[in-house]
Amino acid sequence: MIYPWQADDWNRLQQLRAHWPHALLLHGQAGIGKLDFARHLAKGLLCEAPQANGEPCGACAACNWFEQGNHPDYRIVVPEALAAELGATAADEGKPEKDDADDGSGKKTRTLSKEIKIEQVRALLDFSGIGSHRGGMRVVVLYPAEALNVAAANALLKTLEEPPAGVVFLVVSARIDRLLPTIVSRCRQWPMGTPSAQDATAWLKAQGADDAEALLAEAGGAPLAARALAHDENRTLRDWTLAQLAAGARCDAFACGETLQKLPVPLVIGWLQRWLYDLLAQRTAGRPRYFPQASSALARCAGEMNTDAFARFQRTVTRQRRVENHPLNARLVFEELFLGYRELFG
Ligand SMILES: [Zn+2]
Repeated sequence: MIYPWQADDWNRLQQLRAHWPHALLLHGQAGIGKLDFARHLAKGLLCEAPQANGEPCGACAACNWFEQGNHPDYRIVVPEALAAELGATAADEGKPEKDDADDGSGKKTRTLSKEIKIEQVRALLDFSGIGSHRGGMRVVVLYPAEALNVAAANALLKTLEEPPAGVVFLVVSARIDRLLPTIVSRCRQWPMGTPSAQDATAWLKAQGADDAEALLAEAGGAPLAARALAHDENRTLRDWTLAQLAAGARCDAFACGETLQKLPVPLVIGWLQRWLYDLLAQRTAGRPRYFPQASSALARCAGEMNTDAFARFQRTVTRQRRVENHPLNARLVFEELFLGYRELFG
């Protein structure tokens, strides 16, 4: 399925159908439904009785196979960690070999990779090398392209430089600034817009969200990200953390370390970064972007903080963000960050 705000992109893309580009780069903000769009597009390209507007019929053999995740002319390439989330239908090809170490307790010690690895891209070569099973296109969805590691990106580039006949790549990215420029230039670029606040709010309300406006603000206007926030099991802790940040000089850094230590470091740093963004937005533009419901606390904190210290602290947080995927003692990281935050207020 596609989302209501994607209808225009869908219709305009169908005009390419007669001369479909061998690689299409769908890019735009995270959380606006690009992956769902790409999968629906793939289904439409593979459908053997598509409607006039390119919609898949939903009834032919190809559509059925696609739904069951076993269309022989379709591949989706995602990082292992994401494949686990998307379910077994996501990536059946190019799975890295099982190398899970056993730490003696029977628990797997290896965490699932967040990168797209070269083995996964190489497996596409085998897929591209054989002919189409159904006599139509073969379609590859690659998501998110910024997860390609260096070796995988170079392997993909080679494939795009000599595109195999009849194979269509749908490359999806929220961060084209992180892609190899040579990959970007090999693709037909297709920017996907963030829906209007009105459309996004209407959709989110129809999904049962009771505070659609606040959720959307926090998600930077991206509706799927907002829906994920609504179902976020960590929302209570998030609100608790925001209250700590709102306390400014009275933020209890040790309580933060204690209370948040079980949470992933990137998640908490994300909250902190959005709060810092809003402090600056409040100070310079007079209104926050992510947490409008906390505007009075933000205004108070922005008025009390030392701007030089703020710039230094932002650099510290950015540095921490860069090492966030490395194993760290979360409790110490949080204590240090929240102590640093408290110092902004003299
Ligand atoms: Zn069909």
